[in-house]
Amino acid sequence: MTARGILFPLLAGLLAGLFFVPASGAESTGRSGVPRLVFPLIAKTALWDNYGDPRGTHSHAGIDMENPWRAPVVAVEAGRVSYADSSLGGCMLYLYGKSGTMYLYIHLNNDLTARNDNRGGCVEDVTFAVPNGAKVSAGEQVAWNGDSGDANGNPHLHFEVHPNGGTDSNPFQHLKRASRPLFTAKLGSQFSLGLRGKLVAAGAGAIVVEVDRVRHYPGGSWLEIEKRTVELSYSPDALLDPSLTSLISVARRELKTPLAITAYTAQAKTTTNAIIGATGALSASRISATR
Ligand SMILES: [Zn+2]
Repeated sequence: MTARGILFPLLAGLLAGLFFVPASGAESTGRSGVPRLVFPLIAKTALWDNYGDPRGTHSHAGIDMENPWRAPVVAVEAGRVSYADSSLGGCMLYLYGKSGTMYLYIHLNNDLTARNDNRGGCVEDVTFAVPNGAKVSAGEQVAWNGDSGDANGNPHLHFEVHPNGGTDSNPFQHLKRASRPLFTAKLGSQFSLGLRGKLVAAGAGAIVVEVDRVRHYPGGSWLEIEKRTVELSYSPDALLDPSLTSLISVARRELKTPLAITAYTAQAKTTTNAIIGATGALSASRISATR
């Protein structure tokens, strides 16, 4: 066979690969059809694989994640929600994702007062942040974390993934590669953020901050999140701490000694990209050195 004879089938194979478009879209993760998720919790969360652990007579059908009592729980993809409850699961929420995947959120809040009173039932504004049957977008708050059902006294989210609406499968890989939300708000609503952390790179109209605390305005309070880097653009008229001016008004570079800073974003409309802190989605209007 000539060299050309070998090359041609190779090329044909490559081209065939190039033109193959998976039906479920570029974001899907292989055959399961589960898209890249938005992580269901905002507050700092220790994630480990406890799917399949023995639980009495059955094996664990989801992943348990500890989170503060009444911390926000968000939609992992766009879809429609449905309320449910049971004695073991307590207050539960089904999310029927646009991808065809069904997600189950269990042990949501059932307390009416600041005590573990179990008097709230499983209702909107106590348990759920949206009406039964509501259409939600990825990153929108759907519920509050809690300890209902057999989790009483031990607030955590039990989260299941059911590809194509079938039996449960291990959520761990999906959660591991999920986009972490910085905050939650209704799409289109006005927001701004306070971001605390370390300035690790700066210059050319952007800063990169290793963020560990976020505050959502209006109304929020400082929340500890999983440490992650966020890139923020800033406009020439942004208010800068004088000590930062020389760092920022040059070509972009990494900082040898990261600086503790607090950045505030300009008022903007909530988008899914802003919620997950995607590059280009957030713009700083004020950056101060944290002392
Ligand atoms: Zn569980």
